[in-house]
Amino acid sequence: MKIAFFSYQPFEQPFLESANQATQHQLTFIRQALSPETAILAAGHDAVCVFVHDQLNAPTLHRLADLGIKRVALRCTGYNHVDIDVAQQLGIQVLRVPSYSPHSVAEHAVALLMALNRKIHLAYQRTRKNNFTLDGLLGFDLYGKRIGIIGTGKIGVAFARIMLGFGCHVLAYDKVRSAVLQQLGVEYRTLPELLSASDIVSLHCPLTPETHHLINPDSLGLMKTGAYLLNTSRGGLLDTPAVLNALHSGQLGALGIDVYELEEDFFFADWSEKPLPDSELNTLTHLPNVVVTSHQGFLTAEALAQIAQVTLNNLTHPEQAYLPNSCVVVG
Ligand code: NAD
Repeated sequence: MKIAFFSYQPFEQPFLESANQATQHQLTFIRQALSPETAILAAGHDAVCVFVHDQLNAPTLHRLADLGIKRVALRCTGYNHVDIDVAQQLGIQVLRVPSYSPHSVAEHAVALLMALNRKIHLAYQRTRKNNFTLDGLLGFDLYGKRIGIIGTGKIGVAFARIMLGFGCHVLAYDKVRSAVLQQLGVEYRTLPELLSASDIVSLHCPLTPETHHLINPDSLGLMKTGAYLLNTSRGGLLDTPAVLNALHSGQLGALGIDVYELEEDFFFADWSEKPLPDSELNTLTHLPNVVVTSHQGFLTAEALAQIAQVTLNNLTHPEQAYLPNSCVVVG
C-alpha cells in the first residue's frame, strides 16, 4: 500500500522504518500538515497518515475522497480534529492508535509538576549564569497533598499510580470509575468537590463538546487559592483568557501545559527568530509560574515504537478492527 505521511517529523523515521519491515508499505514522508490546500500531495497514494495538527475537516475529506483515498490513519489517540460524520458519509475509514505507552504522557505531566513546584526551569536559567542563589525557589512537599485527576482512562490511571507513589491523596472525577484506582484508595468525587479540595488538578479527559473549556471562570473560582493546574490532554479544555486572569490574580498558583488551544499555528515550528503573533501564548511562555511544552508528552522511544507499529498494522489489517458504528478502528 502507498501511504502519504503528513506532518512527518524526522524523529519518527527510524520507528516507522523498523515497523514497516513487517508490513512492507511504500511510505512517502511529507513535512506539511494535511489541509484542503495540501491534500493534493496525497494523489497516487492509497491512504494518508496524519498527526494531531492535520485538518481533517469536511473540505479536506472531500478532496481526499476525490483522490480515491479510502483510509486515514491517525498516529495519535485523540480524534477531536476529525469530522467523523463526513468521513463516514464519504466511505473513508478512520483508524487511530487507541493506546500507546500511557506512561509517556503521565510521566510528562509529572515532569511539568516537578519543574513548577521545585522551580527547576528557574534554577536551570540561574545556574547557567553561575547564579547560585536560592531566593524565589521555594517549593512544597508533594507528600500528603491532594491531587485531583479529571479523566481516569489509561493516562489518568498511570498518572494516579505515580502520585500515589509520592504519598499523595488522589481524588478523581470521571463518568466511568476505575475499579483498579478505587482498590488503590483513590476517591471519586463530583467535579465541584474535586476542584475545591485539590492542591493540584491534572486533566486527562478527551476534548469533546462537553469538556470544551471545562476550566473556565466558574470552575477556576471553585479551585483552592494557589492551586496548580496541569493540562497534557488538549488545549481546548482550558478557557485561556480565564486561566491567565486566574494566574494574574493568584487564584492559580502555577500552570503546566503540554497543549494549547491554538497550538496548530505554532507548535512543532521554530518561532524563535520572529515575533509570536499570539499575545496569550506569548504571556504564558514568559510567566515564571508557567511551564509550556509543545505537545511532547508522547515523545518517548517506547511510545513512538508503539505508534508506528499500531499505525502500520491498522493500515494492513483494517478489517480486523474496523468499528462501523463509530468509524474508528481500534488497532
Ligand atoms: P482514555 O480514553 O483511556 O481516557 C479518557 C478518560 O476520560 C475516560 O475514562 C473517559 O471516561 C473520561 N472522560 C470522558 N469524558 C469525560 C468528562 N466529560 N469528564 C471526565 N472524564 C471524562 O484516553 P487516554 O489514553 O487516557 O488519553 C487521554 C487524553 O490525553 C486524550 O484524549 C488526548 O487528548 C490526550 N493525549 C495527549 C498526548 C500528548 O502528547 N500530550 C498524547 C496522547 C493523548
